[in-house]
Amino acid sequence: MLGLMQDWPLLVHRVLDHAATYAGDKEIVTRSIEGPVRRTTWGGIHNRSLRLAKALTKRGVKPGDRLATLAWNTERHLEAWYGITGAGGVYHTLNPRLFPEQLVYIANHAEDRMIFVDLTFVPILEKLQDQLKTVETYVILTDAAHMPQTGLRNAVAYEDLLTEADDDFDWLTLDENAACGLCYTSGTTGNPKGVLYSHRSNVLHAMAALQADVLALSNADTVLPIVPMFHANAWSLAFSVPMTGAKMVMPGQKLDGESVYNLLEGEQITMSAAVPTVWLMLLQHMEANNLKLSTLKRVAIGGSACPPVMIQKFEQVYGVEVMHAWGMTELSPIGTIGSLLARDRKKPFDEQLKIKSKQGRPLFTVEMKILDDDGKELPRDGKTFGHLVVRGPAIAKGYFKGEGGQILDEDGFFDTGDVATLDPDGYMQITDRAKDVIKSGGEWISSIDIENIAVGHPAVAVAAVIGVAHPKWDERPLLVVQLKPGASATKEDLLAYLDGKIAKWWMPDDVAFVEAVPINATGKIQKLSLRETFKNHVLPTAGRAA
Ligand code: ADP
Repeated sequence: MLGLMQDWPLLVHRVLDHAATYAGDKEIVTRSIEGPVRRTTWGGIHNRSLRLAKALTKRGVKPGDRLATLAWNTERHLEAWYGITGAGGVYHTLNPRLFPEQLVYIANHAEDRMIFVDLTFVPILEKLQDQLKTVETYVILTDAAHMPQTGLRNAVAYEDLLTEADDDFDWLTLDENAACGLCYTSGTTGNPKGVLYSHRSNVLHAMAALQADVLALSNADTVLPIVPMFHANAWSLAFSVPMTGAKMVMPGQKLDGESVYNLLEGEQITMSAAVPTVWLMLLQHMEANNLKLSTLKRVAIGGSACPPVMIQKFEQVYGVEVMHAWGMTELSPIGTIGSLLARDRKKPFDEQLKIKSKQGRPLFTVEMKILDDDGKELPRDGKTFGHLVVRGPAIAKGYFKGEGGQILDEDGFFDTGDVATLDPDGYMQITDRAKDVIKSGGEWISSIDIENIAVGHPAVAVAAVIGVAHPKWDERPLLVVQLKPGASATKEDLLAYLDGKIAKWWMPDDVAFVEAVPINATGKIQKLSLRETFKNHVLPTAGRAA
């Protein structure tokens, strides 16, 4: 027997209808690419997204067409997402930090018909357009006054495109399982693969994300999504924030410490989300200038491990709660988040810090377990680590056009490629990406654990630990360090700092200092490139091997 409830497809543009109806005058602020701050409202975004959807339809956009964006977080980028999906299209986020050949591969693979592009990235596309065979139109996200001289095919200013239609338009009624968004994983090995979100998965994920034990979003918040819309679906914020009708501030292009600080204070932000490298720049700016935060209450930090020293500074020095999150593009992207269980909230800060340094507990809609190499489930004891696999309605079941083949096991679980522990309370801790774990004498060493401690040293800006070949132990850890500007520390200082904080046999065999630790397009340390750089590094302990 079926239930007797209404059939109301979960479509993302219904989220925008809701925001416009119930929070129509709530502000959306953008630090624009052209320079000045622009202000609109959820009502304004709604109206312009309708016009865009109508203009796109008039220009022949059909359901399922992929229309790409190559853009910073701005209100126009938000309108593009809603306008494209409201016309039945699929927004496809291109990450400008990728290499040009990757951008070409991705846009061709997706068969993008249009690219909405910020002024910043016009020169990149001008160089690539001969290779972008499927792109018919380039929409420059600006107005006629700021339109550059460009040779891009059929270039049109976004504001001119909007004048081609009024807002008298009905969003397309689609099946809730229709494709909605496309985001390629950065593909550290092999070609990037496309994760194709549906309307239903985006809506469900956003509803899960805004819960009190997840991002805890409410209408009373002012949210600054620093995590780019081109990185892992902006952690749901383009959908979860309008569900609450909260004020939203779009940071544009400038994500350095000073620019972020000025927005946090100037717009009285209460909640924000970004990868650790962005927060590192903010903390360094605030420390150097003796600044405080007056309105910020919570930050979500994820994408790579958040070091305990960062959590401690935010919470104890600045009074800002840290929500340490883990996720991946394939999960829409949030998988776990570090909000504490009721009983853990009563514990002293030091104990809480240990828990918060883990990656957190799964949100509803994410099932999770760890497996050994033979696919057998491992105990949830907080000690045993294994391959982390996940299942849920906002988790990919395959990549676009079948790339990568079958990606689910026979029970429908997706292997995340991460190695993790799960404890009896449900807190998950990432040991490493499977391909980054250091195998020493048959045992595994977690590079993340050592990095987390090393960045607590006052002279260290970024720490990366990689395995280097060793004649006796297969691999031994090498600590690669980028010092803070003007700071100094020796190998002996750093090893002494680690001494007593990690197991003796985890102690790096050597320390190498670099100008800059390489960071990839989604803010992660490029371990592959570091391993390449140090592949011939001779450890001082290697001679003692025989
Ligand atoms: P990519 O396209 O680089 O795979 P994702 O953002 O999808 O980009 O990366 C997901 C991966 O990032 C995870 O599988 C995990 O290895 C890593 N990651 C994300 N959040 C965390 C975290 N809080 N701690 C440790 N690793 C993390």
